[in-house]
Amino acid sequence: MSSTFSLDPGADQLAVRDWLHGFAADVIRPAAAEWDEREETPWPVIQEAAKLGIYSLDFYAQQYFDPSGVGIPIAMEELFWGDAGIGLSIVGTTLAAVAVLANGTDEQIGTWTPQMFGTPDDVKVAAFCSSEPDAGSDVGALRTRAVYDEAKDEWVLNGTKTWATNGGIAAVHVVVASVDPELGTRGHASFVVPQGTPGLSQGQKFKKHGIRASHTAEVVLDGVRVPGSCLLGGKEKLDERLARAREGVKRSGGRGNAAMATFEASRPAVGAQAIGIARAAYEVALDYARTREQFGRPIIDNQGVAFQLADMKTRIDAARLLVWRASWMAANNQPFTAAEGSMSKLYAGETAKFVTAQAMQILGGNGFTREYPVERMHRDSAIYTIFEGTSEIQRLVIARAISGMPIR
Ligand SMILES: Cc1cc2nc3c(=O)[nH]c(=O)nc-3n(C[C@H](O)[C@H](O)[C@H](O)COP(=O)(O)OP(=O)(O)OC[C@H]3O[C@@H](n4cnc5c(N)ncnc54)[C@H](O)[C@@H]3O)c2cc1C
Repeated sequence: MSSTFSLDPGADQLAVRDWLHGFAADVIRPAAAEWDEREETPWPVIQEAAKLGIYSLDFYAQQYFDPSGVGIPIAMEELFWGDAGIGLSIVGTTLAAVAVLANGTDEQIGTWTPQMFGTPDDVKVAAFCSSEPDAGSDVGALRTRAVYDEAKDEWVLNGTKTWATNGGIAAVHVVVASVDPELGTRGHASFVVPQGTPGLSQGQKFKKHGIRASHTAEVVLDGVRVPGSCLLGGKEKLDERLARAREGVKRSGGRGNAAMATFEASRPAVGAQAIGIARAAYEVALDYARTREQFGRPIIDNQGVAFQLADMKTRIDAARLLVWRASWMAANNQPFTAAEGSMSKLYAGETAKFVTAQAMQILGGNGFTREYPVERMHRDSAIYTIFEGTSEIQRLVIARAISGMPIR
């Protein structure tokens, strides 16, 4: 590993951290309980973030291209320290933006990414639609089809997407579809579908256990027609890729891992969100344990309670080190030879669930009520072992990477 790796974020990053922490403490945290109960997208908070430049393409691009790699994890941790449901409403758009950045031409990036954010006076969000009712962990099983209509230079999309963050309310949907089902994941391509395109509609909106301020819904594609220019990367590149994949199929029997590599790169950012939740719950529990008295002394005087807090803090810091390492590696084009991205997301997600459960225990009966925020944080943490690859799938990816074996 190069000597440029540093655990000192530097003055610029610390200034960004403090700025975001202020926004999280003053704007996000006070609004958290209300939007959790309403189970609605917190548009006024997103608008406030947009006015300050926190919800903007420029801000994320700056953090994304920061060579230290820690710009994105620092931003995620602070926003999600404020609240995970609102945090995801603010950063959910970046999932779709990253898909366009990773797969689109310069022209497509220039056209679509600004539309995903809108303007401070007219904020917009974007959605990334990969998961389907029968294709969650098994991305290769997706059934949404994209068929090219050469006469009109249009793609026709049919299928049902599910669990889409911002699905149906987005100005821009990025849809992953199969153009050649025989090639599995290597026959997939991504398409931009602009708001108002006939045939795209929102299915059911889910009522969730946690991150309830974040909108999650089905997206139905019924004969959706988009121009050829909406195929990310363009037709020529797709045809070359499919030809190479067909060659590969003949040689290796059809396994591909390009999509896996993309997911792997975005996982540290999701891990950082989980750390934000964990740190928030830990702070509430530490504070409570110092002030709550039983048997004539603060409950933290009991080793049983103090050791719980010691474990919580240790796991949070360990998770952050894994996330920062993976983020630095990704920013410096170091290959994830041991699935370090998955390691970071796995450990951070499990840590958030562990820490928030311990925090509830330390708060006793109060922890079980909505009078205190740890109950919400505990509910919010549960998604971090499920989305962006479940914990089991992360273990599968790590196990395959370290063993070189096709572990199932
Ligand atoms: C709130 C929320 C937001 C989401 N946002 C998005 C989004 O914006 N865009 C998007 O495309 N998707 C999104 N998702 C989908 C999410 O990524 C999937 O839910 C996730 O990948 C798991 O898929 P699944 O729910 O179908 O579970 P399944 O794949 O059916 O898994 C069920 C269980 O089986 C286990 N399992 C499956 N296969 C294996 C295996 N090979 N080995 C061991 N265990 C296995 C899993 O770990 C899990 O415990 C979101 C989901 C939620 C709940």
